[in-house]
Amino acid sequence: MSAPTTVAKSLDSEVQFLKGVGPELAKKLSKLGLRTIADVLRYYPRRYEDRSNLPPISKVRPGQFVTVRGRIQSVEGRPTRGGKVILKAMLGDGTGMMHLVWFNQPWIKRKLESHHGEVIAYGMAKESGWTIELSSPEFELIGEDDDAEAFARIVPIYALVEGVTQKMVRKAVRSALEHFLPSVQEPFPPDFLKQHMLRPIRWSLRQIHEPESEEFRQQARRRLVFEEFFGLQLALALRRAETEQEMGISFPITKLAGSIVEPGTLFVSENIGVARGETLWDEVHRMLPFDLTGAQRRVIGEIWRDMERPHPMNRLVQGDVGSGKTAVAACAILAAVRCGYQAAMMAPTEILAEQHYVNLHRLFEPLGIRMTLLVGKQGAKERKRSLDLVQSGGAQVVVGTHAVIQEGVQFPKLGLAIIDEQHRFGVLQRAALRQKGIGNPDVLVMTATPIPRTLTMTLYGDLDVSVIDEMPPGRRAIKTHWKRGHERESVYSGVRTIVESGRQAYVVCPMISESEKMQTQAAVDLHYRLSNEDFADLRVGLLHGQMKPKDKEEIMEQFRSHEIDVLVSTVVIEVGVDVANATVMVIEDAFRFGLSQLHQLRGRVGRGAEQSFCILISDAKTDEAAERLGVIESTVDGFRIAEEDLRIRGPGEMIGTRQSGNLDFAIGDLISDARTLEEAREAAIDLLKRDPDLADPSHALMLQRAQDKRAEEAIVVIS
Ligand code: ADP
Ligand code: MG
Repeated sequence: MSAPTTVAKSLDSEVQFLKGVGPELAKKLSKLGLRTIADVLRYYPRRYEDRSNLPPISKVRPGQFVTVRGRIQSVEGRPTRGGKVILKAMLGDGTGMMHLVWFNQPWIKRKLESHHGEVIAYGMAKESGWTIELSSPEFELIGEDDDAEAFARIVPIYALVEGVTQKMVRKAVRSALEHFLPSVQEPFPPDFLKQHMLRPIRWSLRQIHEPESEEFRQQARRRLVFEEFFGLQLALALRRAETEQEMGISFPITKLAGSIVEPGTLFVSENIGVARGETLWDEVHRMLPFDLTGAQRRVIGEIWRDMERPHPMNRLVQGDVGSGKTAVAACAILAAVRCGYQAAMMAPTEILAEQHYVNLHRLFEPLGIRMTLLVGKQGAKERKRSLDLVQSGGAQVVVGTHAVIQEGVQFPKLGLAIIDEQHRFGVLQRAALRQKGIGNPDVLVMTATPIPRTLTMTLYGDLDVSVIDEMPPGRRAIKTHWKRGHERESVYSGVRTIVESGRQAYVVCPMISESEKMQTQAAVDLHYRLSNEDFADLRVGLLHGQMKPKDKEEIMEQFRSHEIDVLVSTVVIEVGVDVANATVMVIEDAFRFGLSQLHQLRGRVGRGAEQSFCILISDAKTDEAAERLGVIESTVDGFRIAEEDLRIRGPGEMIGTRQSGNLDFAIGDLISDARTLEEAREAAIDLLKRDPDLADPSHALMLQRAQDKRAEEAIVVIS
């Protein structure tokens, strides 16, 4: 075999041309996704071990994660009854002995037996008979030709896959640092580094891989985290700046005096409505059956101000379950309609769309505002009628599912689009929506799932945010209890008592699988049991996702009008359903739901002045289950729950895979690095204020990074 003739020239060169690597090792490294030299430099350690100060084996106590160093005294493989092999190695360091134990990895035996130097092992120490053992520890062999000194430092530990060792990665990293660190360009100008107290890039890359001290490592890490967050925040801020320059609709809201647009006309003439002398606020008060909360009023003001500006609105309204987002939406719609435009309200599910339709209809009907509904399973005739109404401008307000409205509807004069529960949908849908309107409609995104602020900044960094942080008056905190399966009977008898006092109940059936069919079956079974046994004398209804929209609506209507006492349902009721007389919810197999989802579900009760209850039934025994259900039991604060959810499940799973593109950070962590994220966001906004086009030559690299980031995003969405 001859040495490669090409020598790596730049950071983009393939890693096989790196000195000391070669094709063999390069092939291994490619398993880790490391293709170029730049990839290697940015392959950050997963954790570190301070080996300058390892505990002697005699000092190791059970219950700790420890790293120990010693020599293998013996290795023994023992077959188990199931045909597997348990491997037990005795490790000694002169102060004591401990066992290292591996299950069914016979190859380790050969490795240990043929090795003559010291071994380093890392794992959780457990008590085992007389001795302490590390079960399935990570380990490294210190070879004769290894620099023993190099092991007595803070050592980087990289994430590996089978067939790749720490040694291989370290070798590549060391070579990359040695030969290519000078090629790494610093994207931040010196004054920027100083202003944000950031270490230079080359120093940081060196220290992240080979830290001289814990303090340096932290400084290096902060710099790299900042850089990573900053790239995204700058891309988002640029996008936002662009929208702000686009021309949109300027709704003449302050000029309005509660005018009513003539039927058939879509344009406001200068002086309509003035005669009646009513302001839009007056009309709002007339329209709503309650007084707005301070928070609602503030958010409506923010929305109206956006609508008046000649640029497209791009606003996210966040408000916990039951904070009254529908009323806020209604006020935005009212403004659009009174200015002579159409408005569209989109919901993620048909049930929710239908319910929005019913609620808004109740408000708008007395004001003479014309509405129509557009959902997937409407009959052809009904659908055509709705479409005609939209296209002729005969309907001023259209309510429907995202899918249907975005598919093929042409609006002659769409001024405002409201997207409810946006967190379920891709960010780019907003752009798709824009293209539907003539000109550039204002977009309002509403989410009931409170999203931790760090996630908001990441997913929605290009949006302005309004928060409804106040609940309508007279609400009582829902009481939540976690019960075991064997207590079900007493739970049911509690439900019965509440129902007999005139209230209504939800029973949410367990989430069995992703399949809607099986989900439906579970609901059908539970309904059968409850209506024939436990609640045979009550009126028990059934709601699931596979029912025809008409049937669903009928059931919901019966529940609303209290012709049903107990509604058995799948998670289709998760969002938005609003029946104030329902004051108790039983959630079967509650552990299967995510925290935020439980919070959403629970939000279906506690919507009136009555005391409401939520009973979580679960036999789950793990610590995680106890932790999760404990959180739900102890707080009704959606933001706290969301933070916990994020902590327990991680961002990708919480948001759903479709949006996680923005959440894959190589080093940043949305929870523990929240402060750095804030700093990076402020830095990005501040920079654009001083240099809106990033035209200053010293900002060229930052601009390029931000553009790369956006290109990346576009690919994520298209594929
Ligand atoms: P969400 O924010 O979860 O969408 P809704 O808009 O469905 O909340 O409102 C929850 C309930 O609170 C509804 O029954 C609504 O009529 C009622 N509501 C909203 N705002 C107020 C208010 N300011 N005063 C009293 N009740 C209100
Ligand atoms: Mg809602």
